[in-house]
Amino acid sequence: MHPPEAAASTGRTPAEPMTTASGKPLLLLVDDQASNLQLLQEMFKGDYQVSMAGSGREALEFCRTAKPDLILLDILMPEMDGYAVCQQLKSDALTKDVPVIFLTAHNDPLEAARALDVGGVDFISKPFLVRVVQARVRTHLSLKYQADRWRTLALVDGLTGVGNRRHFDATVQAEWRRCARTAQPLSLIMVDVDLFKSFNDHYGHQAGDACLQSIASVLKSAFSRSYDMVARYGGEEFVCILPDTPLEGAERKAIELESAVRALGIAHEKSAVAQVVTISLGVAVANPVKGEDCADLVAAADAQLYRAKQAGRGRALSRQTP
Ligand code: GH3
Ligand code: MG
Ligand code: MG
Repeated sequence: MHPPEAAASTGRTPAEPMTTASGKPLLLLVDDQASNLQLLQEMFKGDYQVSMAGSGREALEFCRTAKPDLILLDILMPEMDGYAVCQQLKSDALTKDVPVIFLTAHNDPLEAARALDVGGVDFISKPFLVRVVQARVRTHLSLKYQADRWRTLALVDGLTGVGNRRHFDATVQAEWRRCARTAQPLSLIMVDVDLFKSFNDHYGHQAGDACLQSIASVLKSAFSRSYDMVARYGGEEFVCILPDTPLEGAERKAIELESAVRALGIAHEKSAVAQVVTISLGVAVANPVKGEDCADLVAAADAQLYRAKQAGRGRALSRQTP
C-alpha cells in the first residue's frame, strides 16, 4: 500500500511530443485482433514505448507489474470486454489514475456513454483519422501529468519537502490497515525541536526555517526502506512512520535521529540543553487491528514525547524507557 510515485510533469503543451523521466511515455494497447494491434503500434512506436495485450486479462496482468501512462482499449473482446477491464482498473488504487481511451468498431452513442460511465476519458470509433487519435492521446497524457503533479504538490510540505500533515494522515491509516492484514507491528516516532521559540527569537525566522529544512533532510535521509515515511506534523514537529517495525527497532532509530540532528551542529546559544539545536522524540508501537483507529498510537507517541521534554529534552523515550 505504498503510494506510487507520481510521474513528473513535462510542462509541455499537448501539441509537443512528451517524454517522462524514464524516457518515452508507456502506452498499453489492448485488442483481441493482432492486425489492430499492429496498426496502432505503427501509429505510436515513434513517440512512445508501446506494449500490447491480446485480451482483458492480459492487460490487467500487465498492469500488476508495469504502470502504463495511458491505455487504448478495445471494447468488443471475448471473455472480458473493455468495459469490465476499465472497471477493474478504476477500482484498483494502483491503476485508477491511468487514463483509458476506448477504441471501437461501432459508432453507437450509447456505447460511448457507457464507456465514459465506467471511467474512460475518451471514446474513438472506427474508422478514425490517425492524426486525431494521436492528438487525443497527447492531450490525455498531458492532462494526466498535470493531475499527477497537483497530487504530488498536495502531499508535500512546502518548506521542508517532506510529506505534509494530510499525507501523514492518509499514510498512517493505510499502513495501519496493511499492518493489520499482515499481522506486523507499526511504530511511530514523534519529533519536536527543543526550545525552538527562543531559537527563532534569537536568530530570526529565516534561520528558523533553514534549521527546519536541515532537520527534515537529516530525518529523511536516515530512512532507507521505501515504505518508511517522514512528515511535518505541525510547526516544528515531525513524525516518522515505521511499518513492520517492533518497538526496539523504532527506539534504535529514534536514538540515531537524535544524534544525527545534534551532529548537524546548528548553533543554539539560548538552549539549556546543549550549545546546538536538539530534538526530543517519543516512540510508540501498536499491533494494528482491523476496524480500530490509529489515533491511540499517535497519542501514545505524543505522550512519550511529552515525557522526553519533561525529562530534560534532547532524548528519545518510549514506554519501555525508564
Ligand atoms: P519545547 O522544547 O518545549 O518544544 O519548546 P519550543 O520553544 O520549541 O516550543 P513552543 O511550542 O513554545 O514553540 C515552538 C516554536 O516553533 C514557535 C515558533 O516560533 C516556531 N515555529 C513553528 N513553526 C515554524 C516555522 O515554520 N518556521 C519557523 N521559523 N519557526 C516555527
Ligand atoms: Mg512543538
Ligand atoms: Mg519545540
